[in-house]
Amino acid sequence: MAGKLTEIDEARRLALERVVPLAPEPVALGEALGRVLAEPVTSADAVPGFDNSAMDGYAVRAADTAGADGERAARLTVVGESRAGHPARHELGAGEAIAISTGAMVPAGADAVVRVEDTDAGGEEVGIRVEVEPGRDIRRAGEDIAPGEVVLAAGAEIGPAEAGVLVSVGRGEVACARRPRVSVLTTGDELQEPGEPLRPGAIRNSNAYSVAGLIERSGALLESVAIVPDDREATEAALTRALSGDIAVISGGVSVGPHDHVRPTLAALGAEEVFWGVALRPGKPTWFGTVPWPRPSADRPGTPEVGPGPGGTEVGRTLVFGLPGNPVSAMVTFLLFVRPAIRAMLGAAANDPARTTAFLDLDYPKQPGRAHLLRCRLELREDGWHVRPTKDQGSHVLTSMLGADALAIIPTAAGTVAAGERVEIELLD
Ligand code: AMP
Ligand code: MG
Repeated sequence: MAGKLTEIDEARRLALERVVPLAPEPVALGEALGRVLAEPVTSADAVPGFDNSAMDGYAVRAADTAGADGERAARLTVVGESRAGHPARHELGAGEAIAISTGAMVPAGADAVVRVEDTDAGGEEVGIRVEVEPGRDIRRAGEDIAPGEVVLAAGAEIGPAEAGVLVSVGRGEVACARRPRVSVLTTGDELQEPGEPLRPGAIRNSNAYSVAGLIERSGALLESVAIVPDDREATEAALTRALSGDIAVISGGVSVGPHDHVRPTLAALGAEEVFWGVALRPGKPTWFGTVPWPRPSADRPGTPEVGPGPGGTEVGRTLVFGLPGNPVSAMVTFLLFVRPAIRAMLGAAANDPARTTAFLDLDYPKQPGRAHLLRCRLELREDGWHVRPTKDQGSHVLTSMLGADALAIIPTAAGTVAAGERVEIELLD
C-alpha cells in the first residue's frame, strides 16, 4: 500500500476483468427465484393459447345485437355454457347465445361477449340490452406472447414476474449460471462468536454475519464462514481451504501491522496481487488478487487439482478479496467490489449498481486525496431526491449502515461539499 492508491472505478474494473462466467446448470422453476438466466427463453406457443372472454356474460354474434338497447332488448336462445377449463360443446348459430365465464374459451361461431350486467341474465333465453361490435370483450390468443417470441433474455434475474412468465410459456426448468461458491475468513485473535461472554479486549464477529448476508443477497452460495487467528500457520491452512471455491472473502488482516498475515500467506500460496490500497474511505486497505486453477497442490494435500465447476472442468481462477476488518469498511468494499464480481460471474445483465445524483443536505468537510462514501438516507422532496448521512461516519460505526438507502460518493479530488450541492449516489438494495 506504500504505492499509489487505486481509484474505486479502476479497482472495480480490475476485478471485473478477471471474472470468468460460470457454467450453466438446469434449475427447477421452484428453485429459480433470484437466479440468473443463462439462456434466452422463447415461447413455442401463443399465450393466451385461445381466444377467451374478458368478462362473465354471454358469447354472441355481434350482428344479433344490432339495434339493442334498454328499451328494445335483443332476445337470444341460450344453447350452452363455456366455463373456465370446460369449453362449450356447441358451435354458436344465428340467434343464439352461450353463457361464458371470464377466461373461458370463446365458442366457435361467436365473435363478441356481452357482459352479464348488460343482460337480464336469463337462463334459457337472454335479453341483451346493448349493441356490441365484433371483438368486444374478447382477449385474443397470443395477445400476451406470440409464438416464437423471446420473452426473457439471458442475464435476466428471475423475480416473481419472470417466474410467472416462464411458467406461462410452459417451462418447468431453465438454465441458470451455477452460483459462485464463496468462503469467508474472518481474521483476528479478538473475534468471538455471538452469545459467548466477551473476554477482555475481545469483540463480536459482526462481519461473519453482515458479509455472509451480503453474499447470500448477491446470489452466491455461502460455502463456509470461519474465524482465523492472527497466526501464519492457521492463516495458511484456512486460506488453502477457502481457495478451492470461486471467491474467497477475507475480513481483516490485510493492513501493514505485524499481525496481518493475509498478504504474505496469499503470496506464498501463489496469488497474483492485482491491487492493494484503494483511494477510498472507508475501505483503504482493500486487497484484491487471483489464484489460478488448477493449483499446484503437491505440498498441500486436500487442495483440488482442478476448478470447482461441474466435474471440476471449468477453467478459471479463484478471486480473492481482502476486505478491511472495520465493520463498515467490510460492508462498503463488499458492495463496491465483491458484489459486482458475483453478479458478473452469474452473467447478470443488470450488473452495475444503480447510480444517480441527489442533493446533499449537510455540509461535508473533506480533504482531497480519497473518495469518501457516506451512508445516507434518501428522501424525495419537491425539487428531487435528497441524501443525508445516517449518522457519524466512522468506519467502526456499524449502526451507520442501519436505514442507509444509498452511498453518496464524494470523489477523490473533491474538497468540502456544501449543503445543497449535487452528489453522485449508489443505491443500496
Ligand atoms: P484489521 O483490518 O484486522 O486491522 O481490523 C480492523 C478493525 O476491525 C479492528 O478494530 C478489528 O477489531 C475490527 N474487526 C476485524 N475483524 C472484524 C470482524 N470480523 N467483525 C467485526 N470487527 C472486526
Ligand atoms: Mg486484525
